[in-house]
Amino acid sequence: MFQKSSLHYYEDGDIILIVQDTAFCLHRNYLSMASKVFRDMLSCVTSSTDKDLSRINITDTSPLVFEKFLTFIYPQNFVPITWDIISEFCQIGDKYEFASVLGAAETFLESHFYEKPLSSLILADRYLFKFIYKESSKLVLNRFHEYRQHSKFLLLSHKTRSALFEKYLDFTISITTICSLKKHKDFHHHSLCRLNNLSFTSHECEINDWYESFFERFRLLNSDTLLSPSKSMNVILKHLMEFWRDYVNRTWTECEYRFFNDYLSKQFIAHFGNFEPLKFEKSRRDAEHYIFIELKD
Ligand SMILES: [Zn+2]
Repeated sequence: MFQKSSLHYYEDGDIILIVQDTAFCLHRNYLSMASKVFRDMLSCVTSSTDKDLSRINITDTSPLVFEKFLTFIYPQNFVPITWDIISEFCQIGDKYEFASVLGAAETFLESHFYEKPLSSLILADRYLFKFIYKESSKLVLNRFHEYRQHSKFLLLSHKTRSALFEKYLDFTISITTICSLKKHKDFHHHSLCRLNNLSFTSHECEINDWYESFFERFRLLNSDTLLSPSKSMNVILKHLMEFWRDYVNRTWTECEYRFFNDYLSKQFIAHFGNFEPLKFEKSRRDAEHYIFIELKD
């Protein structure tokens, strides 16, 4: 015997879905509109007389979750998504192609991912939520030494785990090798430099000195700053700003402008890769900067 669902047993329904010991009397139209999988499934189930409605067994969820799940089709009893049910929601939303449920899960994660970055990344990885993937990866990479030991870490796809390891390793190598960049200086002077500078050698020396002092600021970066990429990035950006401030009041020639504004930033980004704040903190002046990985199309 089944018990009738207290929330979703509609007397005028025309199909019965059985989840474990609970019966849901629902409407074919609503189910078909919300889900392509149900549309196909129901087209195979013949209509029957009112007294003996057709039944479909749903085996991969619990009555409680399914009841909440149906509130996206019958919104008068709407139940908001929470961390407790989101994983199962996504699972049936994906299996039965309920776009509205996956959309609601994505919306929930957009405003809650920072509470559980690893769980968010796992869901984003599995259900291809691009925005959540990038944002939660910032927080996971920022405490990677802890998250990689978490039992849930293995729930990430092999591809995502590899991408995280690669990004983190790249970053730690970049930090420890920043001074080696000095050896690869390939700055090109402005075409008029040699003509305009009476003493080109002293101009060249000056630029070399600036370059040295740029790297001098990073001398103190060491393994202490390696634990959290955002902390390292903060230290680095602080040094950068100080460097700019020291020279910003000079009147720059075209060549110097090219050196300070163009060349150094390019060098820097080429060495460290991209980093940015969390999207919702972007307008904060003191926002921390993070490294991240992205879902490719
Ligand atoms: Zn020059």
